[in-house]
Amino acid sequence: MTQAGLDDLWAGRLASGARQMTSSAIRDLLKVTEQPEMISFAGGLPAPECFPAEELALAAERVLATQAARALQYGPTEGYPPLRALVAALMRERGLPATPDQVLITNGSQQALDMIGKLLIDPGDPVLVEDPTYVGALQAWRPYRPRFVALPLDEAGLRIDALERALEDLGRVGQRPKFLYLVSCFQNPTGVTLAADRRAALIALAARHALPVIEDDPYGELRYSEAALPALAALDAARWGALRHVVYLSTFSKVLAPGLRVGWVLAPTPLQQQLVQAKQGLDLHSGSLAQAIAYEACRDGLLARQIARIRRVYCARRDAMLRALERTMPPGVDWTEPDGGMFLWVRLPPALDAGELLQRALERNVAFVPGAAFYANGGGAQTLRLNFSHATPARIEEGIARLAEAIADLQAVAASVNRAARPRRRRGR
Ligand code: PMP
Repeated sequence: MTQAGLDDLWAGRLASGARQMTSSAIRDLLKVTEQPEMISFAGGLPAPECFPAEELALAAERVLATQAARALQYGPTEGYPPLRALVAALMRERGLPATPDQVLITNGSQQALDMIGKLLIDPGDPVLVEDPTYVGALQAWRPYRPRFVALPLDEAGLRIDALERALEDLGRVGQRPKFLYLVSCFQNPTGVTLAADRRAALIALAARHALPVIEDDPYGELRYSEAALPALAALDAARWGALRHVVYLSTFSKVLAPGLRVGWVLAPTPLQQQLVQAKQGLDLHSGSLAQAIAYEACRDGLLARQIARIRRVYCARRDAMLRALERTMPPGVDWTEPDGGMFLWVRLPPALDAGELLQRALERNVAFVPGAAFYANGGGAQTLRLNFSHATPARIEEGIARLAEAIADLQAVAASVNRAARPRRRRGR
């Protein structure tokens, strides 16, 4: 069979939902950025120097020496019981009144996003997202064919006035959104955090409109200045005595290691049961060995030590990036100044396209993600996301300097195109 015949055999059989699938722009870019000479601000990668490799090695040794039969066996879908108890305690520290049996361990929070799409989205359903939003959520949900309603953000996070208007607009045509999705702290991709007054307003709005809210919070512990804000889930649970409108997702990916693939979800009771069933169909349960190692490593307070260390390292890297941007960027370029997380967001002057800039940046061995990928319904050609957690401060400085050169280059080209396009005066007139 020819290659074309083979492609046809399978491509022709893809389900309609699968035809909506897109490859993540970031994962594609990561292949290019693996070369050592490349300074990459593209991925959402934690700093490998911060991985607690020794602690995990010791934990793995203890797990395999003392409880191999349990750690290598099939386990409950809900998760490894001691880990569920540990996560519940962690959630209580974050102000969420969680018991171990309310914690569902997932294969990273990415899996929880897919399960939520599978359970809640019918084709054509309005789903409210931030504009821009986490591209992995768009990727997870596109196969279920929602209609994304994208809501603007500013420096204080999601604009609640825009949310209110969207709810009213939908209501006027007899529709209700399936849910609102947001990253409440140090958002991926912009780095902005939902302000305290907006959190309270959002919870009140959720109550008034019976609006389900998916709160994705992988970065909440990665904060470098301000005190913690209450999670939306904590506000919801405090108001009703238990979670009612909010589903809360978090993960060990950013504070321990993403390779463990250990995340979790807390949901109002009726959805929790459905989530367990959805997970059964996906993978029966998350890897017992990774869960047992994560638990064993964390039982003696590793998480607190890790978080302190990561905050120190990432805060210095964020500062290095902000200083370098300040020093090198031409007028007309601006950026967010996040209090935590791993990303900041850059806006170019209107004439410049971030996709074209990427080509010029790659020629100089520096990479970033053009912002367009994070917009559910298009737009964002002038935006880009920069990761500051992965590269060292010295590499960050070098990379930002190269990026500034690439911008200057593109500006020069844009200016010469403009000059060429301007109509010339005819002589003698
Ligand atoms: N949500 C957000 C906002 C993220 O940035 C990420 C990771 N990039 C995830 C979910 C998925 O994380 P994981 O599956 O590793 O827990």
